[in-house]
Amino acid sequence: MASIDQTIQLIRIGEQRGAGSSTCSSALAEGPWEHDNEGYGPGASIADPLPSDAPRQGIIPREYRNATAAELDLRIRAAKHALGDRLVILGHFYQRDEIVRYADFLGDSFQLAQAAKTKPNAEYIVFCGVHFMAETADILSRAEQAVILPNLAAGCSMADMAEIDSVTDCWEELASVLGTASDGSDKQPVLPVTYMNSAASLKAFCGEHGGVVCTSSNAETVLQWAFERGQRVLFFPDQHLGRNTAKKMGIPLEQMPVWDPNKPMGGLTPQQIRDARVILWHGFCSVHKRFTVDQISFARQRHPGVHVIVHPECTMEVVDAADEHGSTELIKKRVEAAPAGSIFAIGTEINMVQRLANEHPDKTIFCLDSIICPCSTMYRIHPSYLAWVLESLERGELLNRITVPEAIAAPARVALERMLALKPATDRRSA
Ligand code: SF4
Repeated sequence: MASIDQTIQLIRIGEQRGAGSSTCSSALAEGPWEHDNEGYGPGASIADPLPSDAPRQGIIPREYRNATAAELDLRIRAAKHALGDRLVILGHFYQRDEIVRYADFLGDSFQLAQAAKTKPNAEYIVFCGVHFMAETADILSRAEQAVILPNLAAGCSMADMAEIDSVTDCWEELASVLGTASDGSDKQPVLPVTYMNSAASLKAFCGEHGGVVCTSSNAETVLQWAFERGQRVLFFPDQHLGRNTAKKMGIPLEQMPVWDPNKPMGGLTPQQIRDARVILWHGFCSVHKRFTVDQISFARQRHPGVHVIVHPECTMEVVDAADEHGSTELIKKRVEAAPAGSIFAIGTEINMVQRLANEHPDKTIFCLDSIICPCSTMYRIHPSYLAWVLESLERGELLNRITVPEAIAAPARVALERMLALKPATDRRSA
């Protein structure tokens, strides 16, 4: 079966028929450099507002923009070979196949940051993912190692929905209602928890305020830890992961108000804040928000016996309607362990779903959403950028390095290490 990139090109020339024959944006058939300076560009995040200070990518040389796929392949392989053990390439599950084929490690953001540590002698860590992932790799890697993001415009619209100034304002407004003193049980009034999918500055904020980082598979363990230390949790940036996890732990919805950073006091009353157990930041992933209960009903009608499995960044209604929910790694494991003939409808990013389908031809695997709509920012990593940064490294030129200042990295590391120290050990996976 074709890759998602190939399918999008077939759609563009009108040669893709039947299921998966439409895309949310025909601009996906263009090179990502056409969109590096305008919003998030085509794909699921196209309508999300891009912060004015979000990193932008300068123009990459014409020779890379105009190179054919075959030429880029030869150049990437040659540069990779020449750099040898000095280089490690990390590829996220949501990357296009045309990038994943060069990755030394394939995984979720946390697996990849950990994978980089298994190559302590690699001078260059080229992270084919998005900005917060490269930051985490920089925080966890040795100072001598350089982390490189092939396209600086590869951010994450969900991570960008919570930025440090708004979170600090929120923190101060919460303190004006709740105070800052511990209660008689030594629990602080509110404890911050950030999802791995967040800027380094927010991980640092958690480190400095007694908080912690979580992933999509250890969120429940992390929330339990947080409730032992805080009367409430401020959870950012993904409201859906927070809500789905807290609901599973038995917390009623009315004790999970949503904090809207664009409204005074988050749009909440002092009583709502006092009654809250989890205050959910108004963030979401536009990729996972596309999945609906109607899509699940349709899949069940067309494929009796289908197993519906979705990511916890989906809405609560979708998670409740699915047979199962879990991290990307859990989804992958379920598919691998299933007997031949199994049918899966999956609610996560399309590149990963299509790859699972290609790797398991003995099973029927399809994306819940029939419209091809990849993550706008993962899409920014294209072989042209990879060839460009690798050939530059070969010449001794370091492009697109992601560096987290130590003043931020140190407290961010504290929040990450609190998560790593949690017992019992979880499978510690993220999106
Ligand atoms: S899939 Fe969602 S959370 Fe992941 S990088 Fe894309 S926008 Fe961000």
